[in-house]
Amino acid sequence: MTIKRTNHIIHDDEVEIDSFQLQIMFGPSYKEDIEIAVNSIFCNCGAQSKKLVNYKSYLNNLNDIILKGLCNSCNTFAARYIETGERKGIEKIANRIRKLNKA
Ligand SMILES: [Zn+2]
Repeated sequence: MTIKRTNHIIHDDEVEIDSFQLQIMFGPSYKEDIEIAVNSIFCNCGAQSKKLVNYKSYLNNLNDIILKGLCNSCNTFAARYIETGERKGIEKIANRIRKLNKA
């Protein structure tokens, strides 16, 4: 059995963003994208239905989003990486958020 970390590692390039900024990053498909992401997390607890809960959102250098929270089944730390960096026009939005939050 592997032992999971007891806390999340926040990398240097990751900036925490709020739920409104998260919404802006995804645009109109926000609800659907987040729903899919939180319901498809990797966790080695083996539970049939797992969901990411109590998560915080981070924006990284690649303009991708990382949700870090807890697996609702085993209550240990879990994360979900979402590749938003490829989206059209995302760089402008991401840069604005980064500038705002790093200040
Ligand atoms: Zn789990």
